[in-house]
Amino acid sequence: MTHKNKDKAHIVIIGGGFAGLTALHNLQHILGNHAAITLIDANSNSVNRPTMPEVAFTGKPASHALFPLNHAVNSRNSVFHQGRVKKIEPELNQVLLEDGNSLNYDYLLVAPGAVHDYDAVEGLDEFGYSVCDEVHASHLWEALQNFKGGNIVIGSAPTKQGTRVKAPILKAACEGPIGEAMFMLDFFMKKHHLRDKSTIKIFSPAEIFFEDVGPKVHKAFESLLEEAGISVATNKEISRVYADHVEFSDGSQWESDFTIVLPPHAAPDFIRDSGLGDEAGWMPTDNSMQHLDHGNIFAAGDCNALSQPKLGHIAAMQGKIAASKIALELGEKVEVPEFKPEVFCIMNRGGHEATLILTDTLYGGTRDIVTSGALPHLMKWSFDNYVGYTHGHLPPEWSEDIMKKLLEHL
Ligand SMILES: Cc1cc2nc3c(=O)[nH]c(=O)nc-3n(C[C@H](O)[C@H](O)[C@H](O)COP(=O)(O)OP(=O)(O)OC[C@H]3O[C@@H](n4cnc5c(N)ncnc54)[C@H](O)[C@@H]3O)c2cc1C
Repeated sequence: MTHKNKDKAHIVIIGGGFAGLTALHNLQHILGNHAAITLIDANSNSVNRPTMPEVAFTGKPASHALFPLNHAVNSRNSVFHQGRVKKIEPELNQVLLEDGNSLNYDYLLVAPGAVHDYDAVEGLDEFGYSVCDEVHASHLWEALQNFKGGNIVIGSAPTKQGTRVKAPILKAACEGPIGEAMFMLDFFMKKHHLRDKSTIKIFSPAEIFFEDVGPKVHKAFESLLEEAGISVATNKEISRVYADHVEFSDGSQWESDFTIVLPPHAAPDFIRDSGLGDEAGWMPTDNSMQHLDHGNIFAAGDCNALSQPKLGHIAAMQGKIAASKIALELGEKVEVPEFKPEVFCIMNRGGHEATLILTDTLYGGTRDIVTSGALPHLMKWSFDNYVGYTHGHLPPEWSEDIMKKLLEHL
């Protein structure tokens, strides 16, 4: 299989999530007809993962978190190809697909996200629940309908990092989904008059729960946790889930009638199989998202070793940077944005309440903002609807700039 016009540079993007689609939109905008772009994804739909807690805890139909990639991608200079990537041959500039097809590229952007490794925690698939994808989130919602109260245990398993790039060392890939799960579940249990019959206990593999935020956010969190009667234990690595309890690597056990675990995040196997990963499998790049060993290969999103924590906000930022750098390499006069990571997320807490976090203390900055109420909930609702309605476009940058300026005054 070859691209549609041999005279043009052919850019191949693997993955139609936040990183891949943001890169695609920026490349389309900068390059117009000067390049041919193919986006490959294993699935026909893109999944808006930040909506999964709503599927799991409010029964929102999973279909509301999906949009078709052929509509999002196909245009005058871009083509969507559905297929699962098996391997990359960097010396041949070729991507091999599981269906036997192959694609040649001039530039390659690898953006397949992370694999949620459910098998890494024994008993999780049999006795536990998760929220990472539409199948697990829908299954959780179904199970909740029959839950009559009891001991609830929620937490994340540790994720491994490599050492080739300088990125913050974190035990958990991202604890935002844990925050959402515990508050939304607390709300659900209260609404169904089951909270008095239940306990909610959180475990974290890290020394501090939410190790990626600053002291102001921690303080706000403490009050929210106290108010909800949720307890937290740190330095706990889950080893096994049973029907009525969980076991940790330190030998301790907690009774649990309903266990929710965010499994370890791992890099997709094809990265390692192609010789492109660091010792933990993640793609090592410089701050322009260019692979440390291959000048025409880029990586953005959860698969990039620089992505700490694994956040859609960082994935989109990297997608934009990678697109600008590829365009620059193709001779376009563009500025490559600086990589200035920050933790920015909005956690729903049930009903019309949400908590917004914007902090860069993990990267040496001083910004550490947290605000709760109906306004953050409305912001998340607007963001999700914008992404769904526009098939993967992010709200305009000026809207984010205004929002950040307003937040500075809190
Ligand atoms: C429950 C939950 C809630 C979250 N909430 C937030 C939030 O509120 N805010 C936030 O910023 N982040 C949040 N995140 C994190 C965020 O979802 C991820 O960081 C983000 O989705 C990463 O984007 P990505 O483009 O790298 O990967 P993904 O969104 O995972 O997309 C990767 C794409 O690549 C495709 N793919 C994978 N392997 C292959 C292959 N071999 N061949 C072809 N295609 C392949 C997949 O089908 C997928 O479409 C949340 C995560 C979870 C699990």
